[in-house]
Amino acid sequence: TVPKFVIGNWKMQARHEHGLQLARDVSRRLKDTPPPAHLHTIICPPFTQLDGVNQALKTADLPHERLALGAQDCYPASSGPFTGDISAPMIRDLGARYVILGHSERRQNHGETDAIIRQKVKAATAAGLVPIVCIGEHLAERNEGRAASVLSTQIEGSLTRGFRGILAYEPVWAIGSGITPSREELQRKLTLIRALLPMRLMTDDIRVPVLYGGSVTAVQAPSIMSIEAVDGVLVGSASLEAQSFLDIIDAAA
Ligand code: 13P
Repeated sequence: TVPKFVIGNWKMQARHEHGLQLARDVSRRLKDTPPPAHLHTIICPPFTQLDGVNQALKTADLPHERLALGAQDCYPASSGPFTGDISAPMIRDLGARYVILGHSERRQNHGETDAIIRQKVKAATAAGLVPIVCIGEHLAERNEGRAASVLSTQIEGSLTRGFRGILAYEPVWAIGSGITPSREELQRKLTLIRALLPMRLMTDDIRVPVLYGGSVTAVQAPSIMSIEAVDGVLVGSASLEAQSFLDIIDAAA
């Protein structure tokens, strides 16, 4: 069976106690009724909660293939005089297995370019983290018929040759908007992305899971997960509440 992924991206949205309680609630339910082994659940809290959330996730008694910790960003260098930054080895030290890179909020708010993201992919991979790279077009780009060329440029620029990680298609216009692409549009975009990957990776042998993100809720999840090209979902606000996140996990299982 092809692996499926449900990834929660908390962004900068849970205070310490809330985050720990959320991780405990999700862990308890997954311990009581574990999802099937091909489903990978990954929780990406803010840096300050990585350690605490990791301790909470351990109480689920599941191997890391089934329930894992991820960070939301890392610095391209492994150490050095970079005040306020966090390196991939530091994240790995805290038990994280994954790191989200190139989220549109970082591209927008921190001026991250494809070249910077590619450096981060290299740093994450070298540290033993699996990168979850986000790509996606803006609304104007979509409406002007430029989505395909934007996605192609992002894939070419932000992934490495032989990339081993996860790709998340997150159209900027669907993030936090309550709007999701139609099933037809999603199938078309993800098929395009899959077709572009072997050119960048320079091989047909690596299967990169391709996820969808943007306004995924427990209501939309069953329909989105039933789209053939979708390997999973990257969930923002609906991952901040245990029951809605668990409902999405159930829908993906
Ligand atoms: P929302 O699910 O809140 O729209 O956020 C999506 C996202 O950006 C996940 O990385």
